[in-house]
Amino acid sequence: ATPLLEVRDLKKYYPIRRGVFGRVEGFIRAVDGVSFTLHEGETLGLVGESGCGKTTTGRTILRLQEPTAGQILYRGQDLTRLPAAAMRRLRREMQIIFQDPFGSLDPRMTAGQIVAEPLVVHGVPRRERERRVAELLERVGLSARDARRLPHEFSGGQRQRLSIARALALNPRLVVCDEPVSALDVSIQSQILNLLMELQREFGLTYLFIAHDLNVVRHVSDRVGVMYLGRLVELAGADELYSWPAHPYTQALLSAIPEPDPERRRERIVLQGDVPSPARPPSGCRFHTRCPLAQDRCRQEEPAWRAIRPGHWVACHFAEEAMGRVGTVPGSKG
Ligand code: SF4
Repeated sequence: ATPLLEVRDLKKYYPIRRGVFGRVEGFIRAVDGVSFTLHEGETLGLVGESGCGKTTTGRTILRLQEPTAGQILYRGQDLTRLPAAAMRRLRREMQIIFQDPFGSLDPRMTAGQIVAEPLVVHGVPRRERERRVAELLERVGLSARDARRLPHEFSGGQRQRLSIARALALNPRLVVCDEPVSALDVSIQSQILNLLMELQREFGLTYLFIAHDLNVVRHVSDRVGVMYLGRLVELAGADELYSWPAHPYTQALLSAIPEPDPERRRERIVLQGDVPSPARPPSGCRFHTRCPLAQDRCRQEEPAWRAIRPGHWVACHFAEEAMGRVGTVPGSKG
């Protein structure tokens, strides 16, 4: 079947200028050649440290920011070539939920107006709008009476429910969830994640789920992609990635997660140095300046994106060695 979304070699560069209108002196390569597919009804998690390009990837796919290069095929249509009017029509099917529900909700609008806004934009008649708003508020765990309240009268978790209701108003197919629970208390996070998963089952939604917290992503994702300096470095089924990470960067991220079960505890891999500037990514493998396994070849030659097991993709010359190194061998543990 045609994937719902296919992203091919997506790039988003920001020019660096001397002064506001000055000469372009270089580019910040926020997203630098990212490719993946997303199937109907699935959740693809996208993780990495801040500045790795995951948020820009999500926004560029929806064309909230214009891509510099690459293709974004949505149900086979290339969004990068779509005229603005056609893109606006398709937008109904693609929504985004932001990290900070307070920042993304107009403080002067009531909850009802906020949820109704996309319906107004797309010309849904008033009577139907009111019915739909009440239904949506109830579906996300608020009540129809909440329609008259203002954003500041809600708790953080309730505000995120409100932005979910707004995102669902037009029956989308694809929802980009951009760090949807990062600003919330841990106790509230799982309620919102459960709600998102219930809604996915009920409405057959497809999620691109962006987060820096690997625990959160594991909980909700079918597959997970790991990004570093504007590139995907590893992509696999969620269980596969968490049990048998093959890229040294993924291994380091996973080793930082507290693991209560001593049987499954991993040796902590501490990365040296900072993430290099996306304006001047390192030669060869971009991770070589911080990689505990780096060798001469890594500095010279960019690793190919290759499958080391079915459905398990990685960009590392020494992925097999790296995989053997973390101890958990495929099939050795439940
Ligand atoms: Fe490390 Fe080399 Fe693999 Fe890059 S290619 S992740 S530097 S071992």
